[in-house]
Amino acid sequence: MATIGFIGLGNMGGPMARNLLKAGHQLKAFDLSPAALDAAATAGASLARTVGEAAKGVEIVVSMLPAGQHVRQVYGGKDGVLSTAAPGTLLIDCSTIDVDSARAVAADAKAKGLSMLDAPVSGGTGGAELGTLTFMVGGEAEAFARAEPVLKQMGKTVVHAGQSGAGQAAKICNNMILGISMIAVGEAFVLAEKLGLDKQKLFEISAKSSGQCWSLTTYCPVPGPVPTSPANRDYKPGFTADMMLKDLRLSQQAAQGAGVATPLGAAAAALYGLFAAAGHGPVDFSGIIKMIRGGS
Ligand code: NAD
Repeated sequence: MATIGFIGLGNMGGPMARNLLKAGHQLKAFDLSPAALDAAATAGASLARTVGEAAKGVEIVVSMLPAGQHVRQVYGGKDGVLSTAAPGTLLIDCSTIDVDSARAVAADAKAKGLSMLDAPVSGGTGGAELGTLTFMVGGEAEAFARAEPVLKQMGKTVVHAGQSGAGQAAKICNNMILGISMIAVGEAFVLAEKLGLDKQKLFEISAKSSGQCWSLTTYCPVPGPVPTSPANRDYKPGFTADMMLKDLRLSQQAAQGAGVATPLGAAAAALYGLFAAAGHGPVDFSGIIKMIRGGS
């Protein structure tokens, strides 16, 4: 078992840290939020007062932060992880951030003799609680081999996607598919409603036809066909529209940087932008069907 510094104990990091504690690791936890720290202490973590304290004297640092700027600050800032972690410490950032920030921080880590992996996740807060997340990991093979057993204690599927930044690339490509497919499924159900086609019939047919996809069969945006989907609880998240918008914007930023045209990704980002601007950012992302239907 290892001593792990865990930084960022929010909706995702909190339950991920609890799973590491359950697996028998010792945790030094740090977050800016006193409530998140209290919850971590109740679960058995010892508390650090600063980022530097969480990264000192540990074998592994795991972080789960909102965005690229937070990761750059926590790792590269004064008394950040890179200036306090001992050589040989393995650094694993599980936040969803832009590819450039992931690569830049990993390069700075390497210059200090530290191995760093980008390891964003899919599976949401439910997956974080149950320890069934999917990790997509970018970085060197040796670091991946060290990280894999620890990541398996927080997730079910752990894939080495390639070199530094490849985990973030996989995450934003996947979520671009998801954002586009959720809008497509929403449009199909609204069209079916107007054509007088029963939603359950469309579901039964498309779930077994070429329109089949996760947005339809696991996360159906109308109530009824998939009882566990957020549509059955008035679109309580789940995965918020704000988070989807963040990931779609990251995919557009990456597409522009790489000179790739992704017109459907751009349209999805624009539609989620409208949905969030209308005040629905905290709603589950499948709730965009209401806007497609013409409501707000
Ligand atoms: P969150 O806002 O609930 O948690 C982030 C935590 O980081 C907060 O507790 C905040 O206080 C802390 N934090 C911010 N700056 C800090 C700093 N400088 N030092 C220490 N702590 C700091 O967010 P979340 O839902 O847990 O998401 C975290 C990451 O996971 C994001 O990048 C998100 O895109 C990604 N993600 C989220 C989900 C989801 O369903 N929530 C799913 C997949 C991926």
